[in-house]
Amino acid sequence: MLSSTTPTATTPTGTTSVETIADLLARSDRPLRSFEFMPPRSEDDVYQLWRATDALVPLEPDFISVTYGANGSNRDRTLRCTRHMVTTGLRTVGHLTCVSQSISELEQAIEGYREAGVNHILAIRGDMPGGATVPWVARPDGLANATELVRLVKRTYPAACVGVGAFPDGHPASNDLDLDARILADKAAAGAEFAITQLFFIPEHYTSLVARVRALGCDIPIIPGIMPITSFGQIKRFGELSGTDVPADLVARITEVSEDRAAVRQIGLQAAARLCCRLLDEGAPGLHYYTLNRSRATTELHSMVRDLRPEMPGR
Ligand SMILES: Cc1cc2nc3c(=O)[nH]c(=O)nc-3n(C[C@H](O)[C@H](O)[C@H](O)COP(=O)(O)OP(=O)(O)OC[C@H]3O[C@@H](n4cnc5c(N)ncnc54)[C@H](O)[C@@H]3O)c2cc1C
Repeated sequence: MLSSTTPTATTPTGTTSVETIADLLARSDRPLRSFEFMPPRSEDDVYQLWRATDALVPLEPDFISVTYGANGSNRDRTLRCTRHMVTTGLRTVGHLTCVSQSISELEQAIEGYREAGVNHILAIRGDMPGGATVPWVARPDGLANATELVRLVKRTYPAACVGVGAFPDGHPASNDLDLDARILADKAAAGAEFAITQLFFIPEHYTSLVARVRALGCDIPIIPGIMPITSFGQIKRFGELSGTDVPADLVARITEVSEDRAAVRQIGLQAAARLCCRLLDEGAPGLHYYTLNRSRATTELHSMVRDLRPEMPGR
């Protein structure tokens, strides 16, 4: 069954095909909304994921994405989960990383996506065990970075619509925002048609990344990745995991009520809603919500954004 959110387009040869994310972005008649999920690790996780998708699918996302784990068993889970998602009719993006895989294993994973009918791939380098600040060492029979992965996907599966990652706060292993912008432009030149950012909280970091990339003559659409702060502990974790800068006034307001979980959550959601509206005002082509396989925060945030921006589509 195709949901109402996966419209079809007529190709020049008269056949119909599902519109890709690139097609939707090119139409640009409204901002897109999308959700990221993680493949489940246990039976309990499976139920949590399906509960989240059951609650979020009625919001009519333009696409959903499924992250790719760093070891073999995770990889199989990603492929299984993505295969299932695609049968629901949702436009589904399968993530793919270069970590611990030879080129031939990557080609097999790409074939797996093709066979499952997953025609969107988010080409990501991945990190060494230990995280993004551990120096990256490519396998001799593998790939060095996401740009090479974009090329491999386009070569192996030319019909795939390929997305890539972007970093408004700068990549944690690089202190050079101009280099980050150049790398993003390289990924676009290699065939990437859209980018999704790491989570961030400072809108100027997003607008400045977009300006840097445009100054290089690159017009790849850059969709901001959004995750609200819903607990006090997240502030520290965001900084450690992804080098994300949380504005000092937001940290202060949350710290003031740190013992009151409901108040922390409310402040975090309101800040995220204001961020989303500001980004849309600045011309962001969509909002990609990091769900952590839970629906409540995303549903509440989406509803707050719609209250502030009634023209935002979706229920
Ligand atoms: C939207 C999004 C989704 C993600 N999904 C996943 C996932 O599913 N699974 C997962 O494990 N991780 C995921 N990550 C995390 C990601 O693996 C890390 O952020 C990783 O450190 C960078 O991946 P990348 O694709 O941006 O790498 P790249 O684009 O290859 O860049 C990474 C860094 O490598 C260096 N570099 C790359 N190319 C060059 C070059 N030509 N010259 C000099 N230096 C270079 C730079 O320091 C650059 O900042 C995701 C990140 C984002 C933003």
